Amino acid sequence: MNVLIIEDNQDIAASIYDYLEALGYTVDAAGDGVTGLHLALTNDYDVVVLDLGLPVIDGMDLCRRLRQDARRLVPVIMLTARDSLENKLEGFKSGADDYLIKPFALKELAARVKVLSERISRAPASQLQIGDLSLNVETHEVSRSGKHINLNPTLFRLLTFLMQNPYRVINREELEYAVWQDCPPDSDALRTHLSNLRQVIDKPFGHPLIHTVRGFGYKLTDKNAED
Ligand code: CA
Repeated sequence: MNVLIIEDNQDIAASIYDYLEALGYTVDAAGDGVTGLHLALTNDYDVVVLDLGLPVIDGMDLCRRLRQDARRLVPVIMLTARDSLENKLEGFKSGADDYLIKPFALKELAARVKVLSERISRAPASQLQIGDLSLNVETHEVSRSGKHINLNPTLFRLLTFLMQNPYRVINREELEYAVWQDCPPDSDALRTHLSNLRQVIDKPFGHPLIHTVRGFGYKLTDKNAED
Protein backbone atom coordinates (compact mmCIF):
# COMPACT_ATOMS: atom_id res chain seq x y z
CA MET A 1 0.00 0.00 0.00
CA ASN A 2 1.27 3.46 -0.95
CA VAL A 3 0.68 6.36 1.39
CA LEU A 4 1.57 10.02 0.93
CA ILE A 5 2.10 12.18 4.02
CA ILE A 6 1.85 15.94 3.51
CA GLU A 7 2.88 17.54 6.79
CA ASP A 8 5.22 20.47 7.49
CA ASN A 9 5.90 19.55 11.12
CA GLN A 10 8.95 17.33 10.74
CA ASP A 11 8.51 15.53 14.04
CA ILE A 12 4.92 14.58 13.31
CA ALA A 13 5.75 13.66 9.71
CA ALA A 14 8.66 11.47 10.83
CA SER A 15 6.64 9.64 13.46
CA ILE A 16 3.81 8.90 11.00
CA TYR A 17 6.37 7.87 8.38
CA ASP A 18 8.12 5.45 10.72
CA TYR A 19 4.89 4.00 12.07
CA LEU A 20 3.35 3.32 8.64
CA GLU A 21 6.62 2.04 7.20
CA ALA A 22 6.94 -0.41 10.09
CA LEU A 23 3.49 -1.74 9.10
CA GLY A 24 4.91 -2.52 5.67
CA TYR A 25 3.49 0.45 3.78
CA THR A 26 5.42 2.32 1.11
CA VAL A 27 5.48 5.92 2.29
CA ASP A 28 6.31 9.22 0.61
CA ALA A 29 6.43 12.49 2.49
CA ALA A 30 6.19 16.15 1.49
CA GLY A 31 6.82 19.10 3.82
CA ASP A 32 4.77 21.67 1.94
CA GLY A 33 1.61 21.86 -0.14
CA VAL A 34 3.24 22.47 -3.51
CA THR A 35 5.45 19.40 -3.29
CA GLY A 36 2.57 17.41 -1.81
CA LEU A 37 0.14 18.33 -4.57
CA HIS A 38 2.76 17.52 -7.21
CA LEU A 39 3.40 14.08 -5.70
CA ALA A 40 -0.33 13.39 -5.32
CA LEU A 41 -0.94 14.24 -8.97
CA THR A 42 1.97 12.29 -10.40
CA ASN A 43 1.78 9.08 -8.34
CA ASP A 44 -0.91 6.57 -7.45
CA TYR A 45 -1.45 6.54 -3.73
CA ASP A 46 -3.94 4.45 -1.81
CA VAL A 47 -4.34 7.12 0.86
CA VAL A 48 -3.13 10.70 1.39
CA VAL A 49 -2.54 11.90 4.97
CA LEU A 50 -2.91 15.66 4.73
CA ASP A 51 -2.12 18.32 7.32
CA LEU A 52 -4.50 21.28 7.31
CA GLY A 53 -1.99 24.00 8.20
CA LEU A 54 0.68 23.95 5.49
CA PRO A 55 2.88 26.66 3.99
CA VAL A 56 2.11 28.00 0.46
CA ILE A 57 -0.98 25.85 -0.26
CA ASP A 58 -2.93 24.86 2.86
CA GLY A 59 -4.52 21.44 3.27
CA MET A 60 -8.02 22.62 2.45
CA ASP A 61 -6.92 24.28 -0.76
CA LEU A 62 -4.77 21.31 -1.71
CA CYS A 63 -7.64 18.88 -1.18
CA ARG A 64 -9.98 21.04 -3.22
CA ARG A 65 -7.48 21.22 -6.08
CA LEU A 66 -6.89 17.51 -5.94
CA ARG A 67 -10.63 16.85 -6.15
CA GLN A 68 -11.86 19.55 -8.48
CA ASP A 69 -8.99 20.39 -10.82
CA ALA A 70 -7.49 16.96 -11.13
CA ARG A 71 -10.55 14.80 -10.37
CA ARG A 72 -8.45 12.56 -8.18
CA LEU A 73 -10.49 10.28 -5.99
CA VAL A 74 -7.67 9.06 -3.78
CA PRO A 75 -8.93 8.92 -0.17
CA VAL A 76 -7.74 11.85 1.94
CA ILE A 77 -7.50 11.92 5.73
CA MET A 78 -7.03 15.43 7.05
CA LEU A 79 -5.04 16.26 10.18
CA THR A 80 -5.63 19.42 12.14
CA ALA A 81 -4.82 21.04 15.44
CA ARG A 82 -7.86 23.24 15.14
CA ASP A 83 -10.57 21.51 17.02
CA SER A 84 -13.58 23.37 15.77
CA LEU A 85 -16.70 22.13 14.09
CA GLU A 86 -16.39 24.80 11.43
CA ASN A 87 -12.99 23.53 10.31
CA LYS A 88 -14.21 19.99 10.30
CA LEU A 89 -17.13 20.89 8.06
CA GLU A 90 -14.85 22.93 5.77
CA GLY A 91 -12.55 19.93 5.55
CA PHE A 92 -15.31 17.63 4.36
CA LYS A 93 -16.54 20.32 1.99
CA SER A 94 -13.12 20.45 0.37
CA GLY A 95 -13.42 16.72 -0.27
CA ALA A 96 -11.59 15.08 2.62
CA ASP A 97 -12.87 11.59 3.49
CA ASP A 98 -11.86 11.51 7.11
CA TYR A 99 -10.60 13.84 9.78
CA LEU A 100 -8.28 13.50 12.75
CA ILE A 101 -7.66 16.09 15.45
CA LYS A 102 -4.09 16.56 16.74
CA PRO A 103 -2.75 15.17 18.93
CA PHE A 104 -3.84 11.70 17.82
CA ALA A 105 -2.60 8.18 18.46
CA LEU A 106 -0.58 6.75 15.57
CA LYS A 107 -2.48 3.53 16.04
CA GLU A 108 -5.75 5.33 15.32
CA LEU A 109 -4.33 7.04 12.25
CA ALA A 110 -3.06 3.71 10.93
CA ALA A 111 -6.46 2.11 11.51
CA ARG A 112 -8.22 4.87 9.61
CA VAL A 113 -5.69 4.74 6.76
CA LYS A 114 -6.41 1.03 6.47
CA VAL A 115 -10.18 1.53 6.40
CA LEU A 116 -9.91 4.23 3.72
CA SER A 117 -7.66 2.13 1.53
CA GLU A 118 -10.00 -0.85 1.78
CA ARG A 119 -12.99 1.17 0.68
CA ILE A 120 -11.29 1.58 -2.66
CA SER A 121 -9.84 -1.88 -3.14
CA ARG A 122 -12.51 -4.09 -1.58
CA ALA A 123 -14.69 -4.85 -4.59
CA PRO A 124 -13.69 -6.42 -7.87
CA ALA A 125 -13.92 -3.72 -10.49
CA SER A 126 -16.87 -4.98 -12.55
CA GLN A 127 -19.26 -6.17 -9.83
CA LEU A 128 -20.18 -3.49 -7.30
CA GLN A 129 -22.20 -4.25 -4.20
CA ILE A 130 -23.51 -2.01 -1.42
CA GLY A 131 -25.89 -3.71 0.99
CA ASP A 132 -28.52 -5.45 -1.13
CA LEU A 133 -27.84 -3.24 -4.16
CA SER A 134 -25.62 -4.62 -6.89
CA LEU A 135 -24.42 -3.25 -10.20
CA ASN A 136 -22.27 -4.78 -12.90
CA VAL A 137 -20.36 -2.17 -14.89
CA GLU A 138 -19.80 -4.58 -17.79
CA THR A 139 -23.20 -6.20 -18.21
CA HIS A 140 -25.05 -3.05 -16.97
CA GLU A 141 -27.20 -5.22 -14.75
CA VAL A 142 -28.58 -3.52 -11.66
CA SER A 143 -30.61 -5.19 -8.95
CA ARG A 144 -31.69 -4.64 -5.40
CA SER A 145 -32.83 -7.44 -3.10
CA GLY A 146 -32.65 -9.68 -6.16
CA LYS A 147 -35.13 -7.51 -8.05
CA HIS A 148 -33.93 -6.35 -11.48
CA ILE A 149 -33.85 -2.57 -12.03
CA ASN A 150 -33.77 -0.79 -15.39
CA LEU A 151 -31.78 2.44 -15.59
CA ASN A 152 -31.28 4.83 -18.48
CA PRO A 153 -27.62 5.59 -19.38
CA THR A 154 -27.48 8.80 -17.30
CA LEU A 155 -28.85 7.14 -14.18
CA PHE A 156 -26.56 4.20 -14.74
CA ARG A 157 -23.48 6.46 -14.87
CA LEU A 158 -24.67 8.29 -11.78
CA LEU A 159 -25.23 5.11 -9.79
CA THR A 160 -21.95 3.58 -10.99
CA PHE A 161 -20.01 6.56 -9.68
CA LEU A 162 -21.86 6.47 -6.35
CA MET A 163 -21.17 2.76 -6.01
CA GLN A 164 -17.52 3.20 -6.87
CA ASN A 165 -17.27 5.82 -4.10
CA PRO A 166 -19.44 4.55 -1.25
CA TYR A 167 -19.39 5.69 2.38
CA ARG A 168 -18.04 9.15 1.65
CA VAL A 169 -19.63 12.49 0.95
CA ILE A 170 -19.52 13.31 -2.75
CA ASN A 171 -20.14 16.90 -3.71
CA ARG A 172 -22.29 18.07 -6.58
CA GLU A 173 -19.36 19.04 -8.79
CA GLU A 174 -17.82 15.58 -8.54
CA LEU A 175 -21.11 13.91 -9.45
CA GLU A 176 -21.74 16.28 -12.34
CA TYR A 177 -18.26 15.62 -13.64
CA ALA A 178 -18.74 11.86 -13.35
CA VAL A 179 -21.94 12.00 -15.41
CA TRP A 180 -21.37 14.82 -17.89
CA GLN A 181 -17.64 15.61 -17.60
CA ASP A 182 -17.14 19.33 -18.26
CA CYS A 183 -20.58 19.94 -19.78
CA PRO A 184 -23.32 19.58 -17.14
CA PRO A 185 -26.67 20.50 -18.78
CA ASP A 186 -27.93 22.90 -16.10
CA SER A 187 -27.77 23.38 -12.38
CA ASP A 188 -30.97 21.44 -11.68
CA ALA A 189 -30.24 18.44 -13.87
CA LEU A 190 -28.29 16.54 -11.24
CA ARG A 191 -31.02 17.00 -8.64
CA THR A 192 -33.65 15.77 -11.08
CA HIS A 193 -31.64 12.69 -11.99
CA LEU A 194 -30.88 11.92 -8.36
CA SER A 195 -34.55 12.17 -7.57
CA ASN A 196 -35.35 9.79 -10.44
CA LEU A 197 -32.64 7.43 -9.27
CA ARG A 198 -34.06 7.40 -5.74
CA GLN A 199 -37.49 6.56 -7.12
CA VAL A 200 -36.22 3.26 -8.49
CA ILE A 201 -33.27 2.42 -6.21
CA ASP A 202 -34.60 3.47 -2.83
CA LYS A 203 -38.29 4.18 -2.75
CA PRO A 204 -39.64 0.67 -3.35
CA PHE A 205 -37.29 -0.82 -0.73
CA GLY A 206 -37.99 1.21 2.40
CA HIS A 207 -34.36 1.47 3.51
CA PRO A 208 -32.69 4.31 1.55
CA LEU A 209 -29.07 3.97 0.39
CA ILE A 210 -28.65 7.42 -1.17
CA HIS A 211 -28.41 10.07 1.56
CA THR A 212 -28.30 13.83 1.24
CA VAL A 213 -25.66 15.43 3.46
CA ARG A 214 -27.08 18.91 3.74
CA GLY A 215 -24.73 21.60 2.47
CA PHE A 216 -22.09 19.08 1.33
CA GLY A 217 -23.47 16.61 -1.14
CA TYR A 218 -24.53 12.99 -1.20
CA LYS A 219 -23.46 9.72 0.29
CA LEU A 220 -24.22 6.17 -0.73
CA THR A 221 -24.23 3.88 2.28
CA ASP A 222 -26.08 0.91 3.69
CA LYS A 223 -25.08 1.98 7.19
CA ASN A 224 -26.51 4.80 9.27
CA ALA A 225 -25.78 7.95 7.20
CA GLU A 226 -24.40 9.72 10.27
CA ASP A 227 -21.57 7.19 10.71
CA1 CA B 1 1.18 22.17 9.99
